[in-house]
Amino acid sequence: MGKKKHSDGKTVRVHDRDFRLYISEQKIRKSISSMAEAIEQAYGELNPILLPVLNGSFIFAADLVRELSMNFELAFIKAQSYDAFHSTGDISERIGLELDIRGRHVLLIEDIIDTGNTMAWMLKKLAEKQPASLDIATLLFKPEAYLHDFPIRFVGMEIPDAFVVGYGLDYDGHGRNLKAIYQVC
Ligand code: 5GP
Repeated sequence: MGKKKHSDGKTVRVHDRDFRLYISEQKIRKSISSMAEAIEQAYGELNPILLPVLNGSFIFAADLVRELSMNFELAFIKAQSYDAFHSTGDISERIGLELDIRGRHVLLIEDIIDTGNTMAWMLKKLAEKQPASLDIATLLFKPEAYLHDFPIRFVGMEIPDAFVVGYGLDYDGHGRNLKAIYQVC
């Protein structure tokens, strides 16, 4: 997958760039466990639909749902706005949602919110389907890059505006399998 560990384990080469360890596996686990607690408290018996946004959030979503003991349904949606390093703002229409969300409580699950363009587009599309509620859980949030003002109900960790890779997040298709999160050097 284009990933090669350097001898110290703190930096990795992904594709053609070096990245340094930024958020450890342990820190990720802790953050997910407190987010899961907050989600359980918020939804209780509401049987929400959890909607991970592909591709990046597949690992986060898999770990998050295994921390939940409440009832929920799961479906996936897809959108893309990134070219290797930059959010393009040009979001392709790849929603492909099969479940009927009308009157249901919906929680979008994102790996990272950067400019917020992808999420703003998703929110607009999904709101048209008239869910009972529509909220967001994101593992990572870059407040400095954020261009919108919609509320993000569950945030794992705030990070500076620098490109990160690992734990499902890719650099040009590479590095999704890294267990921790790494920041570009
Ligand atoms: P936004 O539309 O909020 O600018 O970007 C959202 C999407 O861009 C995320 O779902 C993710 O796929 C990608 N993205 C944003 N920032 C990063 C980053 O630092 N690293 C990686 N690998 N992807 C990012």
